[in-house]
Amino acid sequence: MIPSHEDEAQTGSLQGNAFPAGALHAFMRWVKRLTILRSTPRATPARGRATERDLRMMRRALDLARKSADADEVPVGAVLYRGDEIIAETHNLREAVHDPTGHAEIMVIRRAAAAMKTWRLSDCTLAVTLEPCPMCAGAIVQARVGRLIYGTSDPKAGAVHTLYNLCSDRRLNHSVEIISGVLADEAGELLKTFFRRRRAENKADLEQPRPIRSRPRDR
Ligand SMILES: [Zn+2]
Repeated sequence: MIPSHEDEAQTGSLQGNAFPAGALHAFMRWVKRLTILRSTPRATPARGRATERDLRMMRRALDLARKSADADEVPVGAVLYRGDEIIAETHNLREAVHDPTGHAEIMVIRRAAAAMKTWRLSDCTLAVTLEPCPMCAGAIVQARVGRLIYGTSDPKAGAVHTLYNLCSDRRLNHSVEIISGVLADEAGELLKTFFRRRRAENKADLEQPRPIRSRPRDR
């Protein structure tokens, strides 16, 4: 008769050479836990330091973010460059082009890939004033962008370090060299000012006298 697991558990230790079932299960649980731990993405701290060129490009991205605000778009600017060569640059265009994917990073990646006639941007750096969201972080990985420099963190949508680590998740087939917090105060101040102004405008709209509606007639 073939012994059951329980039989093995009871007799294993007595037989000496058999592995007790309880110990085997504990070992399997340990292996599973180890596998989960190994596959869990780690928050990768920003490595390296921004070079003079990176700072120059980020200042350019900040100028684009200001233009974005002037055009009533959320002020985020992006520059994609290879060495000293700027391949593409833009800001948020979601309102202008009525496109939910119209974030600065997506637009600049599309333009750069079209200009270079390749979707692989592995020898390029992307400088963006705000931490990319999940959509943009995904696009950065898909485009195999070599380096990412970003300004301020995004507590509500940041997918590079804050909420997710998409650009450094070892389960994905590409990881990006990341430098965060570059001219972050300026980028953050632009966003704060923009949303403060927008809230004030919305409040003013609400306080505008409205036309008196006709009363509903009694039945
Ligand atoms: Zn985005």
